[in-house]
Amino acid sequence: MRMIVAGNWKMHKDHTEAKALLGAMKEMSIPSQVDVMVAPPFPFLAIAVEELKGTSITVAAQNCHEKEHGAFTGEVSATMLRSLGVGACIIGHSERRQYFGESDAIVAEKIKTLLQHGLIPIYCCGERKEERIEDRQFEVVAKQIQVALGWADGQALRQVVIAYEPVWAIGTGLTATAQQAQDMHAHIRQLVRTQVGDAADAVRILYGGSCKPDNAEELFANADVDGGLIGGASLDAGQFAALVRSAGSA
Ligand code: PEP
Repeated sequence: MRMIVAGNWKMHKDHTEAKALLGAMKEMSIPSQVDVMVAPPFPFLAIAVEELKGTSITVAAQNCHEKEHGAFTGEVSATMLRSLGVGACIIGHSERRQYFGESDAIVAEKIKTLLQHGLIPIYCCGERKEERIEDRQFEVVAKQIQVALGWADGQALRQVVIAYEPVWAIGTGLTATAQQAQDMHAHIRQLVRTQVGDAADAVRILYGGSCKPDNAEELFANADVDGGLIGGASLDAGQFAALVRSAGSA
């Protein structure tokens, strides 16, 4: 399976810094079996598409609205993203769930809209710290996936990238152990298999949560870890390039 390394810049970088980072990414060498994606903030998406033209890097958004268009001040549609040349979109990130009240029911609608417009949804799921302490992580993630993706057939699910991001590991410096990641990724793949059979083998499941050059190799080596969704380390061209290399040797 091809690996994916996707960078999520969140709300970081100004115009000049964004251009510099994109310029450095353009020079990055990408192993043939790795797909690279980058998700800058909305104002820099057009610049990213322009700057990365001629490379294999896919530009992704960090969110979109579930409706095609309308009176939704401050929102961005999948149609707009598509018209810019954006190829993917992160959906249901835990920060959007926590600060903007996004539910899996809304996320399901967003995923349907993205697929209708030919964009790859990068669907984020993962348990909170207290849920892991109570040993409820498998049940919590199963529920998230059931609500967000339970409607999808094999053809739709093949287009979806799933990112397992334990909330307690995002931006905290705490990382899931390779075993914790593998156990959850295998669980997710089994859930997808129960739903759509062998199409589950084509669904790429990324790990996210303080993934850095010094722990990536161990995480990416797991059978069901098909790459990473990277926050902090994607803001530094050298670290991001190192993660892409690790994916190439996994
Ligand atoms: C993320 O926000 O998706 C993420 C994984 O962040 P970090 O790598 O900084 O933990």
